[in-house]
Amino acid sequence: MTKHKKYPHLFEPLDLGFTQLKNRVLMGSMHTGLEEEKGGIKKMASFYAERAKGNVGLIVTGGISPNRAGWVAPFSSRMSNLKHVKQHKIITDSVHKEGGKICMQILHSGRYGFHPLIVAPSAIKSPISPFKPRALSNSGIKSTIKDFVNAAVLSQKAGYDGIEIMGSEGYLINQFISKHTNKRTDDWGGSYENRIKFAVETVKQTREAVGTDFIIIYRLSMLDLIKDGSTKEEVLQLGKLIEKAGASIINSGIGWHEARVPTIATMVPRAAYAWVTEMFKKELSIPLITTNRINNPQTAEEILASRQADMVSMARPFLADPNLVIKSEQGLENEINTCIACNQACLDHVFERKRATCLVNPMACYETALISTPTQKVKKIAVVGAGMAGLSFAVSAAERGHKITIFEADKQIGGQFKLAANVPGKEEFSETIRYFSTKLKTLSIKLILETQVEVDLLKLFDEVVIATGVKPRKLDFPGSDNQNVIAYDELLSGAKKAGKKVAVIGAGGIGFDVAEFLIGENKTENQIGSFIDEWNIDKSLEQPGGLLGNPFKSIPSKREIILLKRSKGKFGNNLGKTTGWIHRATLKKAGVKLIHSVEYEKIDDKGLHIISNGEKQLLAVDHIVVCAGQVSKNKLYEACQTKNYITHIIGGAKKASELDAKTAIREGTELALKI
Ligand code: NAP
Ligand code: SF4
Repeated sequence: MTKHKKYPHLFEPLDLGFTQLKNRVLMGSMHTGLEEEKGGIKKMASFYAERAKGNVGLIVTGGISPNRAGWVAPFSSRMSNLKHVKQHKIITDSVHKEGGKICMQILHSGRYGFHPLIVAPSAIKSPISPFKPRALSNSGIKSTIKDFVNAAVLSQKAGYDGIEIMGSEGYLINQFISKHTNKRTDDWGGSYENRIKFAVETVKQTREAVGTDFIIIYRLSMLDLIKDGSTKEEVLQLGKLIEKAGASIINSGIGWHEARVPTIATMVPRAAYAWVTEMFKKELSIPLITTNRINNPQTAEEILASRQADMVSMARPFLADPNLVIKSEQGLENEINTCIACNQACLDHVFERKRATCLVNPMACYETALISTPTQKVKKIAVVGAGMAGLSFAVSAAERGHKITIFEADKQIGGQFKLAANVPGKEEFSETIRYFSTKLKTLSIKLILETQVEVDLLKLFDEVVIATGVKPRKLDFPGSDNQNVIAYDELLSGAKKAGKKVAVIGAGGIGFDVAEFLIGENKTENQIGSFIDEWNIDKSLEQPGGLLGNPFKSIPSKREIILLKRSKGKFGNNLGKTTGWIHRATLKKAGVKLIHSVEYEKIDDKGLHIISNGEKQLLAVDHIVVCAGQVSKNKLYEACQTKNYITHIIGGAKKASELDAKTAIREGTELALKI
């Protein structure tokens, strides 16, 4: 077989003896929320089939519990009887029809479950579930292992090519391994040998039951990132026993869910944890998969070529683009819709018990509802505004065959997203602009930049889409036009610079972005080494859990920054569930001062005058950056209506208060599918 020219390692098949994987890309396990939905199995089948069609080497499903106690939430999906087998057959058949291979992940959530039936090695409540677990009895442990084995045997009956046993991320198996959660004094607790017995027995008994020709992936927690986690020696000891017990592949687990170190969010540099897998690859003999923040073929190839791992796992990137692998294979990398690691529509949705999708690809997990078909009537459509709403509309409508012209007042496309890409740790956002920019060219969409559209110009089109977005809200107290006042877009675009002492008015998503921009202007580039240092990770893995100390160590900003809001209470309440804590931690580490319940009095050359705790105060700052929300720019919409043009309005231009990229892209796509 000839090697792929550009990605020879990525497209090298992986021979497991009894079966061969066509390339080195694993679609990692992700809970989508479809697992629990009525009719969800068919939707899951379409979701996975689409990815199999995109040529991914091996798919792993979201976590399926081996019994009721292991549910992530009440009535989560389970594999414990023949009824479940019948349902899952729909998934495996549809994946196999597309030439793919799929493993079912068996996940017992232990004390992480959100229901009253939860069990764990010891009755210690986790910080992320309101329920206290019951400690398993000796016979309870044995029957739980049997349930894992039973789930594996049933998954084989359902046509799966293998299973993944979830032994990381702080779920049940991991809870047995760590002293942090296992305080037992019987044969399943105490010494390390006893604590890892659950993991080893599960793999051993599963292999005995499923025979030799069935893939068993074991997800090994290599870096716990919690107090009392495992050391390198311990992980290695377990890895060797897992190999001996009959696993075919070991996948890497990085960080428990309760860890307070970012592991997959966008500020984590690409491939930031591949060195962890590399450390164990030198000492283990079965194939090792590395994971976390790998989102493009170039990074994946580098990892494989430098022998850090035998395979790479990408999960969210397959929500963003089901055709990631095939596009890489065909040299169409610039057309990959890259996962920007924002978590906003995937993990945040799952934590809110909503169906996962993707901010940059609203069709993900909606494969059976949002379907793009060629248009029956080609229309000439003008799109005004090349922000996220306008771009997503233009691309989806052009894909259906419509003739699109986009008008944009700015010199570049991207709108508010372009500003976000300038925030340190949000560099990935520029990938979405690159994606749209490529699509405009490949779809022959006409782009007219630096043009203020007059309403009469639009009469040349069959329909008009107003996606003019928003403008920053101005302050409504004296001094708002003073020379020391900067609007957030002026700061983030580089049009204006801030001094050493800065007050930030408004603590929404953009207030936080601006504070991080002000901190980060003095920082070196976010490379892996500085990330590891910043979060106190022990690169030798000699310390338990791989932590050198408190991950929230202080790294004072060179600027004095004060973030203010009028409302009471916690800062960053509206930030994403899975990333808000990281933004708060970043500000805390940098020493950003937070003041809530303020009343703004005025701004003058001395600074910002406020009333806080009933007392007048002068914040003697060099600049005041305004992040007080936005107002819609929708005058053109009204003008189009008076002319009776067929006009649509989407994104921030429609409703500034709900402006965010997720809504904007979804609205653009949905309109394009029905226009
Ligand atoms: P926002 O979340 O609405 O926050 C604006 C803040 O400005 C409010 O929290 C409000 O706080 C304050 N404010 C409102 N009117 C004011 C006035 N007249 N004078 C002074 N302060 C005023 O809006 P945003 O920060 O501009 O973000 C816009 C959208 O982008 C949001 O949907 C946001 O979720 C999204 N976004 C998200 C992220 C993310 O990380 N997920 C990042 C950036 C943006 P007080 O009333 O308490 O003063
Ligand atoms: Fe990636 Fe964000 Fe999409 Fe999730 S929502 S898959 S993190 S781009």
